[in-house]
Amino acid sequence: MEIKIKEVRASSIITKSNLPDADYVINPYVGCMHSCIYCYARFMKRFTGHTEPWGKFVDVKVNAPDLIPIKTSKYKRKSIFLASVTDAYLPLERKYQITRKILEKLIPLQPNLGVQTKSDLVLRDVDLFKQFKKGEVGFTITTLDDNLRKEIEPFTSTVQSRIKALQKLKEAGIRSYVFIGPILPFLTDWKKIILKTKHCSDFYMFENLNVSGSIWDSVKNWLKDRHPNLLKDYEDIYFSKGDYWKKVEEEIKEFCKKQKVGCRIYFHHGKV
Ligand code: SF4
Repeated sequence: MEIKIKEVRASSIITKSNLPDADYVINPYVGCMHSCIYCYARFMKRFTGHTEPWGKFVDVKVNAPDLIPIKTSKYKRKSIFLASVTDAYLPLERKYQITRKILEKLIPLQPNLGVQTKSDLVLRDVDLFKQFKKGEVGFTITTLDDNLRKEIEPFTSTVQSRIKALQKLKEAGIRSYVFIGPILPFLTDWKKIILKTKHCSDFYMFENLNVSGSIWDSVKNWLKDRHPNLLKDYEDIYFSKGDYWKKVEEEIKEFCKKQKVGCRIYFHHGKV
């Protein structure tokens, strides 16, 4: 199915955030063509009125840069994060450059900038990141296996290109990090991800797989189709007794300590 792209005009663009580390979020697009099977943002459909499946529509907020105030001290040293329910570096960002124009407008306001993406297109904006006194750019890495990446995040940059991009951010002096999430039980080798990237990542954040709401249907269908042998194990982790994630998270903390890398469990999703 084709992706339906629509240009829309937003009424506001800087929104108060519920995320742990961000005061505000900016989402330059509605919807996300990266189409991750575990996407938590699919709940957005409830608010947008879209009838297409999640991943099959994107609204481009063409006036978003104009909604950033020219002069205000309101956001100085407040954290602004791009993006919480889309990816600010979707393939169509090459054409529209909405994120780039937003960043240009944010520079005079000097917020603490946070950007997290699955696309190496982010490198295009290194010149702008350098103009923020405080900021960091992160890559989500769920697996080092690019075949698995194609199954779960079909339209994102390859794993290899994300790691190369991290290296380039490091060389450019940008504080960068790896967000290992969602951790997919028995598939995400988070230790290997750390060992492969610790030369170019300033710290790590972790999130276990969230299967709440309609996410479980999407994950379950993918497991049935591609990893049927794991379905029962996933059901046990989320719907039966035991505390799989507690053990994993303890192991993560211990491993990061041994490797001398900064780490934080960003989200912990409990049983359903
Ligand atoms: S990149 Fe993020 S917002 Fe986009 S589909 Fe994947 S998880 Fe959802």
